[in-house]
Amino acid sequence: MTAYTSTAGLALRAENVSKSYGKRVVLDIDHVELSPGETLALLGPSGAGKSTLLAILGLLEKPDSGQVFLDGRPVSARDRGARMQMAAAFQSPYLFKGTIAENVAYGLKLRGVSRAKRSAAVAEVLERVGLGGWEGRSALTLSGGEAQRVALARALVLKPRVLLLDEPLSSLDPLIKSRLSQDFARIIHEDKMTTVYVTHDQNEAMAVADSMIVMRDGRAAASGHVEDVMGLPPDEWTATFLGSEAPLRGVVTTSAEGLLGVDLGGPVVYSTGELAPGTHVIAGVRPEDVLLFEAGTEIPRSSARNRFDGTVVALRLWGVMYHLVLDIGGARVASHVSRSSVREMEIAEGSSVQVVFKATAVRVRPDVAGSGMMEA
Ligand code: ADP
Ligand code: MG
Repeated sequence: MTAYTSTAGLALRAENVSKSYGKRVVLDIDHVELSPGETLALLGPSGAGKSTLLAILGLLEKPDSGQVFLDGRPVSARDRGARMQMAAAFQSPYLFKGTIAENVAYGLKLRGVSRAKRSAAVAEVLERVGLGGWEGRSALTLSGGEAQRVALARALVLKPRVLLLDEPLSSLDPLIKSRLSQDFARIIHEDKMTTVYVTHDQNEAMAVADSMIVMRDGRAAASGHVEDVMGLPPDEWTATFLGSEAPLRGVVTTSAEGLLGVDLGGPVVYSTGELAPGTHVIAGVRPEDVLLFEAGTEIPRSSARNRFDGTVVALRLWGVMYHLVLDIGGARVASHVSRSSVREMEIAEGSSVQVVFKATAVRVRPDVAGSGMMEA
């Protein structure tokens, strides 16, 4: 290995952590890195190992192997000082009988903080989570969303070095969840909290996180900046999980002034980027960036470089939208289209359409596996 990444300055890091129950390996992760102030989402289906990894990172559980580092220092679940620098909130917050203030102040009390300092800190944090003045209310009569705000306040009030959130919004209904995820994102970022955020919901991950690890069967199926992973999932499983098509494979044929032409074995798509002609790449475009127009109609003036005659090969409902799979001369891209558009354009399987997307919407990465140059 010649690759060397500096780990200096990272707030939280884990190397080669694994965990098994009996003979079953439920976690096997090479490395996790968080810079100070960064929010990392652990995204994946149920059973993927997200909570296990979170518990290990939060020093709540001991890995079978591997090491966690806090500010560069090796730490373990036995290290009380390090554990005091972590604070967590979970899907079903345990709030005890009493006032909101008592619940939020509890951790401070355990840490021996004076009554006066406690009430000042509680008032401030309640304000931040949108519950200003709620100190005296009973903690047991709250809605699910309010209870989660209290749980977040209870963690934030400790001013932890690392904040750990395990599916904090999963039990809420979609509307509240969407609003709360935006609120949580704002609060976490305002506080410059280093945060690990577990969710199985990609929209939530998009709303709160800077980077993500997509987990599958205890392993990292993909990791990187949210935009990069969402924009170009590295393989078919991850793409399907994230609601896009499998990555396209092709070769760069032209490269000039930041614009690449990528031959997909028939259609050529244009992308922004700087890669040499001949480079084998994987490419992808998010379904929400792909526009459809009726076949034969004039397309309104636009700067979109990519225009194809395509055929609808599949369509299915995807939330409030339709997810359409389109064949553009041998390559497949997906598009999300509203129900009313599908109705108005009379789109069905086999329909001919015009497919349009911008060069800036196309993600391209060198394809090490496809170039035949993989190192032994
Ligand atoms: P996620 O949070 O992604 O849903 P978990 O980390 O909770 O996944 O669990 C990963 C896997 O480990 C699951 O298959 C789960 O059943 C298993 N698992 C978790 N905790 C235990 C345990 N205490 N004993 C046995 N198996 C466990
Ligand atoms: Mg879990």
